Amino acid sequence: MKAESEGILRIFRRQSPVTVLGPGNRAVIWVQGCGFACQGCIVPESWNREGGEAVAILELATWILAQPEIEGITLSGGEPMLQASALVELIDTVRQVRDLGVMCYTGYRLEQLQQQGTVSQQVLLQRLDLLIDGTYIQSQHGDLLWRGSTNQRLILLTQRYLSILKQRLAEGDKSAGLEFYTDIMGEFYFTGVPSQPGFRTEFEARMLSRGVVIKA
Ligand code: SF4
Repeated sequence: MKAESEGILRIFRRQSPVTVLGPGNRAVIWVQGCGFACQGCIVPESWNREGGEAVAILELATWILAQPEIEGITLSGGEPMLQASALVELIDTVRQVRDLGVMCYTGYRLEQLQQQGTVSQQVLLQRLDLLIDGTYIQSQHGDLLWRGSTNQRLILLTQRYLSILKQRLAEGDKSAGLEFYTDIMGEFYFTGVPSQPGFRTEFEARMLSRGVVIKA
């Protein structure tokens, strides 16, 4: 497990506000780079560690702080733990101005990070309110709140989201749904955790048959 920090974060995408990847409205950053190569991963474009866009942490913090009504940040990927140092810097910069919650996905298990993780990864864990751990296992795909397969756990690392998580799970451990966007270039995106495995492939094929190209 190697972590990086150069005052920049390599990202795949960012979007805000998003309501389907964590409590309330969130600014979501999908980091670039992941070595897990899960079969059925919804964003294989985020695997290449040299891909994506290198963005200054200060610029990302400014972007997050400019989002008017967000409750927090969600870090997805890609694998956030590969850029743990940069993410700690980002979170600390943002929290000097606003007390935003932080939720993070990782393909690692919490215990693995706690016992074998780098110092940066362990510091990042200390900054998180909610962790979703474990790789995506297509054969265990489920219709679940904020996660794709039944092996993935919702782990509260602080009390910040305790009541909202209890409330959401009491309403049913079900997918929070998907959101669809178009950007100024007319590109079409979706985000969220689909309730069905293979959703992206099927959806893209359907849309393509109507002449619409979906961007990851
Ligand atoms: S850990 Fe996440 S980003 Fe990485 S391959 Fe698996 S599903 Fe994709």
